[in-house]
Amino acid sequence: MTTQTETRSFQAETSQLLDLMIHSLYSHKEIFLRELISNASDALDKRRLLGLTDAAVRGDDEGRILIEADPASHTLVVSDDGIGMTRDEVVENIGTIARSGTKEFIRTLKEARKSGEIDAELIGQFGVGFYSAFMVADEVILETRKAGTDEATRWTSKGDGSYTIEPCEKDAPGTRITLVLRPKESEDESWQDFTDEWTLRSVVKRYSDFVEHPVVMEVEREEGEGDEKRSVRELVTLNSRKPLWTRPKAEISEQEYKDFYTHLSHDWNDPLETIHFKAEGTHEYTALLYVPKTRSHEMLDPQQRGARVSLYVKRVLVQAECEELLPPWLRFVRGVVDSADLPLNVSRETLQHARQMGQIRKHLVKKVVETLGKVLADRRDDYVAFWEQLGPVVKEGLVLDEAMRDELAKTCLFHDTHDETLTTLGEYVERMPFTQNAIYYVTASDLRTARSSPHLEALKKKGLAALLLVDPVDEFVVDRLHEFDGKPLVSLDRGELDLGDDADDESSAQLDEKQKELQPALDAVQKALDEHVSSVRLSRRLDESPAVLVGEQGGLSPQMERILRASGQEVPKGRRVLELNAEHPVVQRLLALAAERGDGAGDGESASGDGEGSARFAEFAEVLLGQALLAEGNPPPDPARFAKLLGRLMAGG
Ligand code: ADP
Repeated sequence: MTTQTETRSFQAETSQLLDLMIHSLYSHKEIFLRELISNASDALDKRRLLGLTDAAVRGDDEGRILIEADPASHTLVVSDDGIGMTRDEVVENIGTIARSGTKEFIRTLKEARKSGEIDAELIGQFGVGFYSAFMVADEVILETRKAGTDEATRWTSKGDGSYTIEPCEKDAPGTRITLVLRPKESEDESWQDFTDEWTLRSVVKRYSDFVEHPVVMEVEREEGEGDEKRSVRELVTLNSRKPLWTRPKAEISEQEYKDFYTHLSHDWNDPLETIHFKAEGTHEYTALLYVPKTRSHEMLDPQQRGARVSLYVKRVLVQAECEELLPPWLRFVRGVVDSADLPLNVSRETLQHARQMGQIRKHLVKKVVETLGKVLADRRDDYVAFWEQLGPVVKEGLVLDEAMRDELAKTCLFHDTHDETLTTLGEYVERMPFTQNAIYYVTASDLRTARSSPHLEALKKKGLAALLLVDPVDEFVVDRLHEFDGKPLVSLDRGELDLGDDADDESSAQLDEKQKELQPALDAVQKALDEHVSSVRLSRRLDESPAVLVGEQGGLSPQMERILRASGQEVPKGRRVLELNAEHPVVQRLLALAAERGDGAGDGESASGDGEGSARFAEFAEVLLGQALLAEGNPPPDPARFAKLLGRLMAGG
């Protein structure tokens, strides 16, 4: 047992965070109570769960969260008889902020502070929890004893950069947190008296009404009549404790749904949509799920496996954030599932439960996808706003969830060349002229590059539209989807382009003729660029640009190569085909240069040409290649050399 008293410094990040919270957060300070109650409630859940298998930690009775307010000493105490913490756990959990997003959060807070007031919304999203106590307290004292042990620990801090930790006495397991509240400074309008019974009642009602454990407080009440009148103190339960999802839909107000969402998610925005239903049949359960409007940092992180949906069995929490309930790509969904027929000690291992859970999961996924489709159909603007936040995560589902792929494809939005707004694949297909038989797309790292891609030229001339895929996940989407509504997805930057137009046959034949005629010159260009291009041919897809690079049919796009390289994979440097626009003056000049040095004559020997002419020809070809690369958003192979050659050309070389 450690007996000494130690003073330790907070992590630099914790200090920064505290400082920002204390000095920049002015509204919604009352959320500290929600955070403390929520921690206490988790601690009670943990003790109950562990108690099922370990008699040593089991509590005597049901467990409660007690609030004690003392206006005289201006203190507020929140205590629970939950699992408690060991000294090491206190150091680990309370002295540091271990969350991965903390740095990001501090940055966001600082940004927010620059533009004025920091919204409590931000605090909620990151769930800084315990530390929010320092928004209202000058000093916080936490005393805790882990269930199953008899050593207790006291942690004390003024929120000023350090804390003290020492052994203490505590009669029963659990945690007791004392807040020495900050006095009212002048006419601070945001100041609330958190020792006032009615303030406390309303805050608990507002934020913690659904907490399953009783939140109790001793209050004074008048009893008797006239002379008999005397005041008595009694314990009252402040929260209704009735789980929202068990009530009939018709009786639940929108505000109640919303409050429960805030309670679950710590997100202050309204959810995009609420899904509340009771499943009957093979498995009986109730689900209350929320699709959020905005994302939090963790939602974008594909490493975050756990969906934030808790599993209850007959109103008793058996697993918080139960991974089996939803696939990782639905990690943005929040909610609860309450099963009527799983056993209380449901374990992941037993096959029977796995099957049951699998069926529940399938049904939940279906419900969420249906809901997305409904919001898209009924509330387009809301859906677009949601898509801008969480579209990439939904697209992950399209890649990974084969069973839902076709359904999900209908709810995905993409940019296209038709206009500036997002389009569904269905809308794209509807706009296709009857001669068009494929869905065309280009991929690029950003919209601007995509919109100006030379690969779009022939299409634009014919008045056809293409999808502009700029999200890294899009590469995987097209790789898996292959087609939509019977129309294949065709990349404009790979293979020979066939725009499916019979009127083209004649000009196509002419082009073949020309290609034959110019073959020796084209071969010479290939030879000059051998390191980078596998062949050179005349293009059917260009209108304004002189040249464009085209991949093999079915090969990797440059965008995909970039993504794979960025993720640390080795990608062989593939050579692509250089297509030239025979009508373009620059290309005509190049072909003339080839002819000058004798390539027009066609035999391999003379292709070497005279020294100076050869060098000029090779440099010209190199600049053309660099240009084609730049147009698709990639750097030329040797940018410095490219700049030099270009300079020489501009000077009339
Ligand atoms: P969060 O609750 O989001 O994890 P907090 O800062 O509120 O963040 O709490 C950090 C950790 O401290 C909790 O995850 C929990 O392990 C522990 N903790 C906080 N309050 C209690 C409590 N009342 N009883 C037991 N453990 C607690």
